[in-house]
Amino acid sequence: MNGLMQQRQLLISDLIEHAANNHGDREIVSNLGNGHIHRYTWSGALGRSKRVANLIHALGVATGQCVATLAWNTHRHLELYYGVSGTGAVMATVNPRLFTEQIVYILNHSGSSHVFFDVSLAKLVAEIAPQCPDIKGFIALCDADQMPDIVVPGLACYESLVTGCSEDYAWPSLDENSASSLCYTSGTTGKPKGVLYSHRSTVLHAMSTCMVDSFAISARDSVLLIVPMFHVNGWGIPYSSAMAGAKLVLPGSELSGGHVYAMLRDEACTVSCGVPTVWMSLLEYAENVDAEQRRRDIVLTRALSGGSAAPRRIIEKFEHYFGVYLCQAWGMTETSPVVTVNVPLRKHEALTLDERFDLQMLSGRPLPGTEVAIFDDEGNRLPHDGHTAGQLKVRGHWVARAYYHREDDAWDANNWFATGDLATLNADGYIRITDRSKDVIKSGGEWISSLDLESAALSHPAIDEAAVIGLRHSHWQERPLLIAVKRKGKDVTADALLDHMRNLVAKWWLPDDVVFVDSLPHTATGKLSKLPLRKQFENFRFSTDVENTRG
Ligand code: AMP
Repeated sequence: MNGLMQQRQLLISDLIEHAANNHGDREIVSNLGNGHIHRYTWSGALGRSKRVANLIHALGVATGQCVATLAWNTHRHLELYYGVSGTGAVMATVNPRLFTEQIVYILNHSGSSHVFFDVSLAKLVAEIAPQCPDIKGFIALCDADQMPDIVVPGLACYESLVTGCSEDYAWPSLDENSASSLCYTSGTTGKPKGVLYSHRSTVLHAMSTCMVDSFAISARDSVLLIVPMFHVNGWGIPYSSAMAGAKLVLPGSELSGGHVYAMLRDEACTVSCGVPTVWMSLLEYAENVDAEQRRRDIVLTRALSGGSAAPRRIIEKFEHYFGVYLCQAWGMTETSPVVTVNVPLRKHEALTLDERFDLQMLSGRPLPGTEVAIFDDEGNRLPHDGHTAGQLKVRGHWVARAYYHREDDAWDANNWFATGDLATLNADGYIRITDRSKDVIKSGGEWISSLDLESAALSHPAIDEAAVIGLRHSHWQERPLLIAVKRKGKDVTADALLDHMRNLVAKWWLPDDVVFVDSLPHTATGKLSKLPLRKQFENFRFSTDVENTRG
């Protein structure tokens, strides 16, 4: 027998309708750069999102069709989140920090018909446009007098188009399983993989991050969304803040420690989320602010941290500088992203501060609606003893079941998704990420492919063999070190080699240092063996590391 409850579809458009109807005067604040702060409310955002929805129809975008963004965190990007998905079209948020080739691949693979871009990215747009023949229009997210001077198909001004559209729009009653947004993961070498979220997964994920033993986003919060909106839907904050009716603060592209500090202070932010590198910059800035002043300025109650492991000194400094609990969370593009969040249990109330810091080093416990487990290479479950490390697998309502238009063997018959992370699980269900089975480097929250760097180095005629490993960097978490063997009778300096590689990879990927060695270690099958290299260089300090120069 079925229950007698109403059946409603879980739709993204209902989130902004709820925010406008019940929290209509809560503010959305955007830093548009150069001191220009834009303010409006959830009610204003709803009206503008409806104009965007009308625009999407006027552009001829069909249900299920992708529309891409290359944009920072601003109110316009937020309007696109709702205006595009709300019509039944799919919002493909593209990371502008990727290598041009990857951006072109994503735009073409997603079949995006239009690209909405920030003016600061106009040069990039001009470069990629000729390689994306199916894109009908490039729409600059600016006012008419700020239009970039580039020649691309269908160049148009967002503000002119949006103000020309009506605010009158009835959201369609979509099936909750319809695709809503698409993000590509570049965490593995090779081509980026698309993760296609649905309205249902997005709403359930938002609901779970509003829960108290989670991000606890509430109507009383002012949320600074530092995580880029092109990184896994900005951890769902654009949705959860609407669901909760929180004030939402969008920092644009100004993410220096000073800018983040100023936004936290000026907008009385109570919660914020970012990768450890952003927190590091904030703490470096705050170090020079008077201790009393710091406590008065910053009213944060929690800082959410994910994307890579937060070092203990960040956790400690948040406590000492601001009295703020740094809350680690774990997730991936494939998991919407939030799966685990680190909040204490009742039994932890008596912990000393030092013991609590130890607890905060863990990546958290699974949210209801998700499951996590660790397995050995044969697929056997491993014990939850806090010591045994195994392959971390997850499944749940907002975990992907396949990649977009691409085969992959990351899923087993029981729907477990193999994350590629190695982790321990303790008896209370807290996970600790111990390693990544992928050979990529994560710098400041962004992936760097070691294989791509190696092939760039190997393309130099004087290089015989090259290995790139990620090593600890006090600011970027990890930076690449290139270890190379010179070809007999040939010579090259580190600078000349890096100059050569500069044309082949994104500038920020370039290894911070190069070490020349006589030979590299190999496995039995002749493959480069990075494990001994990591061991050999574990105490290496980059020349670019401030901690190093401080001695
Ligand atoms: P992405 O798909 O770019 O969000 O990257 C996901 C990966 O980031 C995970 O597979 C982990 O390797 C890493 N990661 C995310 N959160 C954490 C965390 N709290 N601690 C350690 N690694 C993390």
